[in-house]
Amino acid sequence: MKLTEMRECLAREGIQLTKSLGQNFLHDANQLRRIVQAAELTAQDRVLEIGPGLGPLTELLLPRAAEVLAIEKDARLVAVLRERFHAVIAADPSDPALSHPMGAGGRGPGEGPVATPNLRLVHDDALDYLKREPRDWSGWKLVSNLPYSVASPILAELAQGARAPQRMVATLQLEVARRLMAKPGEKDYGVLTLLVQLDFEPHGWFRIPASCFFPKPDVDSACVCLVRRRSLLAPESRRAFVGIVKRAFSQRRKMMAKLLKNNWPADTVDGALRRLELSATARAEDVTLSQFVHLSEILCRAVPNNGAQ
Ligand code: SAM
Repeated sequence: MKLTEMRECLAREGIQLTKSLGQNFLHDANQLRRIVQAAELTAQDRVLEIGPGLGPLTELLLPRAAEVLAIEKDARLVAVLRERFHAVIAADPSDPALSHPMGAGGRGPGEGPVATPNLRLVHDDALDYLKREPRDWSGWKLVSNLPYSVASPILAELAQGARAPQRMVATLQLEVARRLMAKPGEKDYGVLTLLVQLDFEPHGWFRIPASCFFPKPDVDSACVCLVRRRSLLAPESRRAFVGIVKRAFSQRRKMMAKLLKNNWPADTVDGALRRLELSATARAEDVTLSQFVHLSEILCRAVPNNGAQ
């Protein structure tokens, strides 16, 4: 979808964009192609797209995937998408009756435009939707140009546990992308890095200049590619991992041992650090993912049920 088409569409529908919904639409064909390439789609893939907007990414995903589930909060854009793709609005996308347009009121050949059979459009707040309807996303890929204001909570919500998508290709603020890709010792390394990297391996990223969006945002963006990894932690230690990471980064410049002792017995914490050959003065920003994983196992064994969140 070209910039001129976007402008025409918005003018035709009388839509004034809403800044608080992060409505910056990607019109650069080259960047859109790179995003789709990073998704490595096959004809069997099911794709979750959060915030389809006017559909510049959606239109590239649809011919390459078995199914696209698109969740858009703005009713005006839902109406545009519905018209553009002759899409069916899915009240409950798990309803099998909606898996085919004929079953959900789509029009057939000879009766006007044919519905896009592999698009399910949901009008909802994506974060509410994900929290309200926890489902198994493990057979899915997330491919989205995410709304800035909710990008981090959406990724943190989706990324955790056995039900997370197999791949997440997300376009977001450059600053958030750096946090997702960060390594120990870097200033961007923190809670979001570890919560996401526990289950996802960073597989590269590229910068997308602000000029590729309409309207042009104040900051550059980046597309990150995260691929699901084999589980590093048993389910029973996950709560401890989240609690430890949040506590350890609650005051970045403080010694991690001191902070953890607020929630775990001092001798248990000291013993765990010794076993991991971590200095008693280590700060969270220098501790690797693997060390946090082992720390969680040790502390969880010593004090089960202490999530400390
Ligand atoms: N994918 C389109 C593109 O690349 O041009 C639009 C991306 S734009 C950055 C973000 C989109 O997310 C907007 O269409 C906005 O209305 C929608 N949005 C904002 N907050 C949302 C939420 N909580 N749930 C679902 N969609 C949301």
